[in-house]
Amino acid sequence: QDMAALVAGRVLDVPDFPQPGIVFKDLMPLFADGPAFRQVVDGIVAHHGPDSFDVVAGIEARGFVVAAAIAYATGAGVVPIRKAGKLPRAAYSASYSLEYGEATLEVHQDAFMTGQRVLLVDDVLATGGTAGAALDLIVQANGSVAGFSVLLELGFLEGRKRVAPREVHAVLTV
Ligand code: IMP
Repeated sequence: QDMAALVAGRVLDVPDFPQPGIVFKDLMPLFADGPAFRQVVDGIVAHHGPDSFDVVAGIEARGFVVAAAIAYATGAGVVPIRKAGKLPRAAYSASYSLEYGEATLEVHQDAFMTGQRVLLVDDVLATGGTAGAALDLIVQANGSVAGFSVLLELGFLEGRKRVAPREVHAVLTV
């Protein structure tokens, strides 16, 4: 089965979450399906090439799940990109607007060795604000962006435009 279909068959639409009028895409069924999740993770690795990155950065919280799986599969390390106030040591911050509100992301200032190749991953690309801030943080912390993947892209929100000129690899676009 192709990877897009694996995701399409394991995402639930949750109306009015976390706010009225928002249809939340819930990927927990994909995470819970071991063989499907493994195949999707392996597909992301194959898309970029297993030797194209040194470390995987995941965006809190569901991005951590994807990042850890890719890291384990390839022997790369994991770096968390966290919401404001969670990291214990000196961090860089980036604020942005998102589909429902405002947010700040942070990464430890010493998270990357200079020029270390970083694959960024998250579960969903919506408006692209989160991904844009995370990519900025990787650059600010002296990482080199090797690629960016999401499991699901909400195409109608045009997040890809906000992330441009960086490329977005989406396993499934709806
Ligand atoms: P953006 O900044 O608008 O692109 O929102 C993307 C971020 O919000 C990602 O970290 C996602 O985890 C989360 N997000 C936004 N919409 C959804 C959704 O429908 N399902 C799951 N996560 C979402």
